[in-house]
Amino acid sequence: DATFRNEVNVTQPYIQGETEDEVARKYHLDKVVKLGSNENPYAPYYHSKNAMIRSISTLNRYPEDDFVNLIQLLADENGLKPENVALGSGAGNIIETVAKMFINAGDEVLIAKQSYRLYREVSRLMGAKVIEIPLTDDYQFDLDDFQQKITDKTKLIWICNPNNPTGTLTDAAKLEAFMDHLPDNVWVIVDEAYAQFADHLSLANFLRYIGHKRVMVIRTFSKFYGLAGARLGYVLGDPEAIQAYDTVTEPFNTNRTAIAGASAALQFDQIESNKARKKILGDREGLVESLGLLGFRVAPSQANFVFAQLPDGAPDATTVVNALMKNGVIVRDCTPWGYPHHIRVTVGTHAELEFFLSKLTEVLSN
Ligand code: PMP
Repeated sequence: DATFRNEVNVTQPYIQGETEDEVARKYHLDKVVKLGSNENPYAPYYHSKNAMIRSISTLNRYPEDDFVNLIQLLADENGLKPENVALGSGAGNIIETVAKMFINAGDEVLIAKQSYRLYREVSRLMGAKVIEIPLTDDYQFDLDDFQQKITDKTKLIWICNPNNPTGTLTDAAKLEAFMDHLPDNVWVIVDEAYAQFADHLSLANFLRYIGHKRVMVIRTFSKFYGLAGARLGYVLGDPEAIQAYDTVTEPFNTNRTAIAGASAALQFDQIESNKARKKILGDREGLVESLGLLGFRVAPSQANFVFAQLPDGAPDATTVVNALMKNGVIVRDCTPWGYPHHIRVTVGTHAELEFFLSKLTEVLSN
């Protein structure tokens, strides 16, 4: 449609999960469990919640000091300087701003074909030629193929680690070798939305490239700290890139309540958030095992969700996901990523997963 800029694909908006309320109303259900958006069932944590409540009475003010203070905390946490840190209202907002600050019409952009879809949409919006590279058979970024597709027009490479929707990590040594051979004109944007759920934090240690290579690292408070509804993310990079970012994003691109929650979580909720992480990883293991017993093949997850291939002979993912929804469980159909036999399931609470597994067993035996 010529109304919209650069082929925005209006028939396929970012896959929006159905809400619990919508599903409950539509199918006349008392109970709906949402395991479709990789949310954290245990948050907000104690100090974070109280700080957010307290922040309400200061909402007449712009969040000036709040930005400065949180940026300092994040710099300290990551062994960087405040000039290396900027905020945004969620990683999604940051991804959009990064596309704005880098991409000229005609630039080439490399992404994985089966990854977070916003990279493609915002890159295209900015007029990039987007080159999609399939994941390997074991759901890793195919870095040899990325390497081969780099030309002198390549501007940006988006890497998601752990990857959404597969939950898999790309081998750290391979990523490092890739980074070491990166031509000077190319920027690598690493989306680490789920990094805190992985076995090793900052896996290929991208932070050490800051200042040496053209790299920016994006993180969010939506997952590990469970503040998805507050909308807060941050980006780490060299001072020039951070300054460019802050120039093109709107002033005060997040709010006092989100910043209060994030600052308190970082300072005072470490024990509680790590306890929740432990529960999530334990339940993830149980979920993988139970799905295995049902005949699913589950990719090795390093995130708070699992990517599971339906048993041989089962109906396709769309059919299964719709049947689950009618039974009060929301999970993600991976067909839009080119995986018509895979579903993506968030690791909710133990009780939510039990509910999911009982409904799944029912659906598959019908
Ligand atoms: N990146 C990835 C890989 C994601 O999965 C998500 C959310 N599901 C985001 C970014 C956006 O997260 P938010 O805007 O909530 O920080």
